[in-house]
Amino acid sequence: MATALHFAHKEPPTQSVDEMSIHESLQKLSGSYVKVTAKIVHIEQETQNITTRAGKQLVLRNATLADETNQCRLSLWASHIDAVTLNTSYNFTNLVVKDFDETKFLSTSPTSTFQQTDDLENVNFELIEHKFDGEPSMVAITSHYACRNCNMKLDIEVNMPTLPPTHKCHSCSFRQRMNASAKQTFLKIKFENNPTYTVNSAVTHKFISENPETQNMSDDLEEFLFTKTVTVILNNKDNTAVKELKLA
Ligand SMILES: [Zn+2]
Repeated sequence: MATALHFAHKEPPTQSVDEMSIHESLQKLSGSYVKVTAKIVHIEQETQNITTRAGKQLVLRNATLADETNQCRLSLWASHIDAVTLNTSYNFTNLVVKDFDETKFLSTSPTSTFQQTDDLENVNFELIEHKFDGEPSMVAITSHYACRNCNMKLDIEVNMPTLPPTHKCHSCSFRQRMNASAKQTFLKIKFENNPTYTVNSAVTHKFISENPETQNMSDDLEEFLFTKTVTVILNNKDNTAVKELKLA
């Protein structure tokens, strides 16, 4: 299935781009367009809501791509977030090389296309868990109601004593009943000399359910975490999305 997004963007090069391996793609300068055949070996469950510099709200989901030469992060944007299937190989065109914290990765662009292809059997991929524990130096807990259609943050005060019966999402325009909506809670945690780790709502809720003493704590949970040694488990050491959070 080929998909393309249409919104304002920088034009990709008009000359055709040669197909290259992941290893070769990651040698290219940030901003280069590449064409690769690779397998989706990991997809993060949670999506993130990102506001672009132009003020546009976009949804991001990170995945991991691998071929026989290497593996790398693939950022899937907007309608691309659900366009790939785990353990499936694709011919990708117009992916963009990006650079963050000195690590190169690939990202979809509005003109990216994905064509399913024969399975790549020998890919260079190992899911290496990375465990880290320590006393947090900074903790932020935020809650919001999310749209049940597009998952964007709804413009509703989380501490309202009573919710309005319905609410219209500004991103996808769906009005929805609020009685079926659940509050999502997210955590950001930082340890001295380390990046900020983000804990998505599913992982945060699992942590709270495993530690009943933390239920209904809200701001107190921030204080509580400073008194503890906390273990974070990451998919690999370059990833800041926490897979599991525990008290040590
Ligand atoms: Zn919505």
